[in-house]
Amino acid sequence: MKILSNLYLWVNDKFTAEPQSLLVEKGIIIEHLPYPVPEQYKHIYQQDFNRAYAYPGFIDTHTHSFEGGLYSSGADLSKAQNIDEVLQLLSAENAKKSKNEIIFAWQLDETLLQEKRFPAVQELDSAVPDKPLLLRRIDGHSCILNSFARKQIKDLDTSREILRGAENDYAVHYFHNCLADDIILEAYQVSAKLGLQAGFSCLHTMIGDAHNSITHYELIRDNLDKFPLRFILYPQSYNIKAVLNAGAKRIGGCILADGSIGSETAAISEPYLNSTSHGILYQSNEFWQKFISEASKHNLQVAVHCIGDRAIRQINNVYKIISATEELRHELIHCELTDDELIQEIAISKAAPVMQPNFDLLWGGENGFYAKKLGIKRSSIMNRFASLLKAGITVTGGSDWYVTPLNAAQSINAAVHHHNLQERLTLAQAIDIYTKNAAWLNFEEDTWGQIKNGFQADLSIYSFPLGTETSQLLYIIREGEIKYATK
Ligand SMILES: [Zn+2]
Ligand SMILES: [Zn+2]
Repeated sequence: MKILSNLYLWVNDKFTAEPQSLLVEKGIIIEHLPYPVPEQYKHIYQQDFNRAYAYPGFIDTHTHSFEGGLYSSGADLSKAQNIDEVLQLLSAENAKKSKNEIIFAWQLDETLLQEKRFPAVQELDSAVPDKPLLLRRIDGHSCILNSFARKQIKDLDTSREILRGAENDYAVHYFHNCLADDIILEAYQVSAKLGLQAGFSCLHTMIGDAHNSITHYELIRDNLDKFPLRFILYPQSYNIKAVLNAGAKRIGGCILADGSIGSETAAISEPYLNSTSHGILYQSNEFWQKFISEASKHNLQVAVHCIGDRAIRQINNVYKIISATEELRHELIHCELTDDELIQEIAISKAAPVMQPNFDLLWGGENGFYAKKLGIKRSSIMNRFASLLKAGITVTGGSDWYVTPLNAAQSINAAVHHHNLQERLTLAQAIDIYTKNAAWLNFEEDTWGQIKNGFQADLSIYSFPLGTETSQLLYIIREGEIKYATK
């Protein structure tokens, strides 16, 4: 037994007026106590938090933690302003690595480079001549390889330099699958550390190749207790049998109904601006019908990436006719472009949109990237946090890290300051999508995600309330124990 004391607690959508204390036993909150604690509790060990502010432990319900951890130790190209700077960063990375190591580079947004293009393979070769290099676009939906890497992969269609769709997936998974177990576990350790630093006590993470393999799933499942934060695992695969054999209770993640707005592969009902393209539905209705009903039959919670309205509708239509959706809490990952009618259809299917406030932060607004691709009118019906909640739909928050930064305060802030005033969440709603609603998504709404008696003692503790300038992360508590302290 122990007491976490002298904390303002986030209870019923606001902080307690005075600092309080929590009596914790075996990781569970037993009792709310005042501060200072009454006489009869004084013999119990107390940890004093000096009037800090405690939220329920934040949960990010959509990350790619393997890539995030792996690439965080590679070359980050997000700050590069032109091709020259990209090549310099790659050269520096090349100098750091030994002979047989793969070089990973990420966060390339060619639209932000002076030249407005990807580097050419020949240019990459000048920076990294003799090791395999995998360079990924910021959204993960395209990549480019140097010649050394292109030669290593058998059966790659090398007619194009920039790899998209199936070729992108193939190349990425080829190099991920070359890695030894210790490198894979280390990538998750790095992401667990980054997750704690970012304010999270738990990350939902996608594992597997998003095709037929659940690569690394068993390895991580068997090592879950080695990580300082909690990982909730999604075997990303269409292989229901493998998923069941591995004992998973869900299937999918970023298995793709469509692509991304950036790569113009998100499936939309009206064409992209200045284009005749409507994006791509990667699978037929029949495919999803068969896959989702089969998975549901085995009580697997299903999660599918769908960004454009055509893709969201395609998946939601299947969810609608599967009576198990409500019970199994099937997920619409991203769920970005939704008109009012589609929101009503989602309310009927009872699916759970797993959404990313950072998408609006980075690409929303009248002058934003989405408006450039889709026009202002359509960009105004994207990432509709407030409208979805208003329709009675349970939305949960994620980052899609590595695609956007992993940072609880930033994500919550982005939801509160949505470009579209109509879609802004109140602070309490924004906190809910990263706590209560997230616990619900994992069927733990009765024991997790709130600071309440009988609930797990997970806390994200800040110096001041989120949204105030001086607010700084101080501690992450899991099951009553400090797992992270800011130095
Ligand atoms: Zn996705
Ligand atoms: Zn994703």
